[in-house]
Amino acid sequence: MPLQLRDPSLLKTECLIDGRWLAAGDGTTIAVNNPATGELLAAVPKMGEAETQTAIAAAERAFAEWKSRTADQRAAILHKWFELLMQHQEDLAQIMTAEQGKPLAESRGEIAYAASYVQWFAEEARRVYGSTVPSPWGDKKIVVTKEPVGVCAAITPWNFPAAMITRKVAPALAAGCTIIVKPAQQTPLSALALGELAQRAGVPAGVFSVLTGPARAIGGVLTASMAVRKLTFTGSTEVGRVLAAQCAPTLKKMSLELGGNAPFIVFDDADLDAAVEGAMASKYRNTGQTCVCANRLLVQDGVYEAFMAKLKAAVLALKVGNGADAGITQGPLIDEAAVAKVKELVADAVAQGAEVVTGGKPSALGGTFYEPTILGGATDRMRIAREEVFGPVAPVFRFSTEEEAIRMANDTEYGLAAYFYARDVGRVWRVGAALEYGMVGINSGIISTAVAPFGGVKQSGMGREGGAAGIEEYVSTKYLCMGY
Ligand code: ADP
Repeated sequence: MPLQLRDPSLLKTECLIDGRWLAAGDGTTIAVNNPATGELLAAVPKMGEAETQTAIAAAERAFAEWKSRTADQRAAILHKWFELLMQHQEDLAQIMTAEQGKPLAESRGEIAYAASYVQWFAEEARRVYGSTVPSPWGDKKIVVTKEPVGVCAAITPWNFPAAMITRKVAPALAAGCTIIVKPAQQTPLSALALGELAQRAGVPAGVFSVLTGPARAIGGVLTASMAVRKLTFTGSTEVGRVLAAQCAPTLKKMSLELGGNAPFIVFDDADLDAAVEGAMASKYRNTGQTCVCANRLLVQDGVYEAFMAKLKAAVLALKVGNGADAGITQGPLIDEAAVAKVKELVADAVAQGAEVVTGGKPSALGGTFYEPTILGGATDRMRIAREEVFGPVAPVFRFSTEEEAIRMANDTEYGLAAYFYARDVGRVWRVGAALEYGMVGINSGIISTAVAPFGGVKQSGMGREGGAAGIEEYVSTKYLCMGY
């Protein structure tokens, strides 16, 4: 069934470049399919080098004027964009579920979450403070200001088709930068709809462009360009490394939000019902396809059996199906490659002795649906202990002491999110300090909010999105030495 939108003009099949909606110069397109039904939703332009160069030139031209506006003026446009996003929340959620697969309730939630970044950075635009420093010279003042870095490029993933864009575009615009977004090939329609609403909000031509098409071609031009001064990327560690190498010759500022391998630790003193609720939200949200999803559940001996029983009951209550249908809590995986990865990791774990507590196979619904799964008796020899499963599979590991849990939790190259449940206040501080992660959820399975700094350490990347730190990524420090 074609998408029924209240405002059909939000379904864009052209790209936004320099304030105009354009097809590819050679007329080529790429198909966008619904992962739940396989149905063709739309075709979007297959942009290449020429269009990317046009967008960069437009962003360069627009930068001087945009940066010279007052913070108030930029904030007013961002506030308007926020209002339009919320006004069109339902249509945007419909587009998202159709191209991404997540249940409608989650899509509505993501639009509100995406919009909250626009609101937050509209407010932060007014707070890009500089400083004065006591001078070592009697006849010179030292003044430090913050300047927008210039033209930015954003490459974004399919798992949060709206929020991963607004958490980059909103701080860039607030700081006075211009930005070109290359959304994931699977989910371009959400990105284009955001562009349409930004236009309506009054974002000037060239300040925010959206280019759809092959990642390598567009990414290659964006990263090679001397005019592009900053790259912000969310995606896999593997691609993050490639992009960092591509940016080296032009020395760009970079923010990389990469893969994770989140531990979710349940100690003997945890509130078990709360821990199960947190594990469900952290593990199975978006069918396990988030970079902060619990990838390993570590459960202490004393509560292992009780936790497993409660977790199993909660997982059996999940409902798999088309995210557009009422009551569905688990949508399809994004594509066949995602299913293949999940199958491989489950087969490897089972071959090495994991017990399938529930699920463990593709859903009878076919397509890219996979049964919500719990694996008991997981060990560090299994691939799933090291690799991000990015699907609805919870491997449960057993441990006996706090030290063991910390060692297991930190035994990974990644360092994005970690979670733990405990009530003993000494333990809470000890474990919170010992976890080598950028973010730690303590008695909470949900940590993301526009007001807090999101990001990782180790191979999970660099830079922070959201919070006061989020806008710092889009400014450079300038020092004025003022003789008088
Ligand atoms: P995921 O499959 O989890 O989205 P990827 O890292 O493969 O993770 O992709 C994230 C984003 O990076 C997507 O927009 C994708 O199109 C883009 N991408 C993938 N490979 C490259 C590349 N070589 N150059 C530029 N962008 C890329």
